[in-house]
Amino acid sequence: MYHGCVIQVAVPTPLREALDYLPVGNQSVGVECIGCRVRVPLGRRTVIGVVVAVLSESSLSNKQLKAAIEWVDTQPLLSSVQLKLLRWVSDYYHAPIGEVVCGLLPKALREGLTPEVDTVYDYQLTSAGRLALDALPSRSRCQRQLLDVLSVEQQPVSLKALQAQGVKRSTINTTCDKGWVESVEAIPVVAEVIHPTFSVTTEQQQAIDVIADAKQFDVFVLEGVTGSGKTEVYLQTIAAVLQTGKQALLLVPEIGLTPQTQQRVSERFQVPVIVMHSQLTPKQRAQRWLQAQSSEPCIVLGTRSALFVPLPKLGLIILDEEHDSSFKQQSGLRYSARDVAVKRAHQLNIPVVLGSATPSLETLHNVQLGRYQSLVLSERVGGGQMPQPECIDLCDQPLVGGLSEALLNAIQATLDQQEQVLLFLNRRGYAPALLCHQCGWVVPCPNCDASITVHQAKHQMRCHHCQRMWPLLRVCQQCKQAELMPVGVGTEQLMEVLQDRFPEVVTVRIDRDTVGSQKRLDAVLGQVHSGEANIIVGTQMVAKGHHFSGVTLVGVVDADGALYSTDFRALEHMGQQILQVAGRSGREKAGRVLIQTHHPEHPLLHTLLTSGYPEFARALTEERAQVGLPPHSHQVIVRAEAKDAHHAQAFLQDMVTAGLSIGRNLSVFGPISAAMAKRANRYRYQIILQSSQRSVLQQGVVRCVQVGAQHPLKGRCQWYVDVDPLETI
Ligand SMILES: [Zn+2]
Ligand SMILES: [Zn+2]
Ligand SMILES: [Zn+2]
Repeated sequence: MYHGCVIQVAVPTPLREALDYLPVGNQSVGVECIGCRVRVPLGRRTVIGVVVAVLSESSLSNKQLKAAIEWVDTQPLLSSVQLKLLRWVSDYYHAPIGEVVCGLLPKALREGLTPEVDTVYDYQLTSAGRLALDALPSRSRCQRQLLDVLSVEQQPVSLKALQAQGVKRSTINTTCDKGWVESVEAIPVVAEVIHPTFSVTTEQQQAIDVIADAKQFDVFVLEGVTGSGKTEVYLQTIAAVLQTGKQALLLVPEIGLTPQTQQRVSERFQVPVIVMHSQLTPKQRAQRWLQAQSSEPCIVLGTRSALFVPLPKLGLIILDEEHDSSFKQQSGLRYSARDVAVKRAHQLNIPVVLGSATPSLETLHNVQLGRYQSLVLSERVGGGQMPQPECIDLCDQPLVGGLSEALLNAIQATLDQQEQVLLFLNRRGYAPALLCHQCGWVVPCPNCDASITVHQAKHQMRCHHCQRMWPLLRVCQQCKQAELMPVGVGTEQLMEVLQDRFPEVVTVRIDRDTVGSQKRLDAVLGQVHSGEANIIVGTQMVAKGHHFSGVTLVGVVDADGALYSTDFRALEHMGQQILQVAGRSGREKAGRVLIQTHHPEHPLLHTLLTSGYPEFARALTEERAQVGLPPHSHQVIVRAEAKDAHHAQAFLQDMVTAGLSIGRNLSVFGPISAAMAKRANRYRYQIILQSSQRSVLQQGVVRCVQVGAQHPLKGRCQWYVDVDPLETI
């Protein structure tokens, strides 16, 4: 036992707790150093950690305690409010505090760097500039325009405002060099809102009023069909928040796919719009993170991880497309940005808006329980009709590359009208399997329990699970005949079939294989918007909020995959995807949506297509209630992978025993092998803990984690806890 000043430091290791250290130079510190980064020794290395507490004693002895090496910060990098949220994340997701606190920092900050935030400058005319204005020859049109603008303004003008008037950056630089214009450090802007020139619908106005009036914690679910103007509601409620001097956070599933959102936000507000996305360099990411901390008012627009950007005056959180699975991190710290956003709003006592045309069943359940408040936008702005999807029964139909004659005819008719076609197929590659025509052997991935995918253009077979690739096999390894043929259809083959059938039109493909880079994606989207592309083939990438105004026919090539899946969420996701894709069409003109299926009689598919999403969601929730699945209960999965299947099984079996000791309010299932029992040469097993009481479930997981942390086989198993998992097979 040691008595004296001790700092508790969260360090980036899988250790469950923060570690005790003596302060730097053993100089006593106070609570003001909580949230500061500090360099500490850890084993043979030194690492950067964050101080999470200051204590007056430690259970370690004086000898065991090591001293911190040096302070990185003189001011806390993380506020107590921020640390409180991270602590909750650590507890709720059973994740080590160090991995949460350090792992959610931008990489550059985690490594101890503190990049300077770029200073923002405004511009004003010098006295030399005033004189020059009169003498300027008329051919210097650009320079004259700039000097004219500045000469009528009493205040320095921002770069953004100048650019909005068509002034080029090069012109500003030239006139600065000549001494006619000078830059001054920008004074903080007062939130100025550019009011839209159009009016909103009654429903939109009601939603805006309700959200803008909320002065404390409240969760609003904005349910609006695609095209009903959810974004306008977001923008006007953000405006109301900015005008009170506060900050707003807008989270979206994808930024690259929806450049329109970013553009609309920047155009509307004269405050800094800080965009956080995956293409930023580590330095940019850290700069923007720090900028958000010091800019008020401002808007942060970003994907999942932007949720953790510190915003000391946060007044509103909005999550667009809240049902989207990209809000759940599927590796490392498996958090749900939606659920953490609600928690953050609760801790700050501010409103949060969850928007979607197809809300998740969890969110709808919370509406039903009265925890969340529903706001509905039922009409499309401008009155356009939401197309009624129609089924094409594939039974006994001849198919060409997965396309029925009925769909091909509809495509032809649409092209004849000079309109665009969008075909949705959530399967990359040429074909999902390679099969021997003689003996039926299917080429497997040697490392996984899965068949390889054919990528014809590259003459490759790839495994989409372990990412390995090989040259295409020619000869069956079982019967030695050269009769291997691709079966099933992926986007690559669909593209080939379409180019064959409609050689005179331009077909483009949007999936991870073809638009891996932002540049490539922008180029393809450009082709779509200019009308140069006639047919668009895409995976789930096209279902994410992108607006294709020229599309009047949407075809869902294969709706059957999810109908009889063992994953209980597969149907929910399929329903959301079909409606999201359907929503891409007919915003300006009436459109058609055709769904190809072998099972048009499937009751839930039928409900979805005839009665719409709310009815579909109700039926699905009812079905889950009967078997006690979420949202009527809560789940946690513990997965373990090992080179030897027995190790993973034995490891999890001991957790099951510990979990079962909790009592009858907690169900524990397993260990069972994962749907893909082998992946990348490791055997995968899992257990599921399920309870209708969150606290009981938490108790059970705590016991399992204790067992795992001390288990003799822990060195042979990779294991993790997934709270509220989206993937359960
Ligand atoms: Zn064979
Ligand atoms: Zn594989
Ligand atoms: Zn049938």
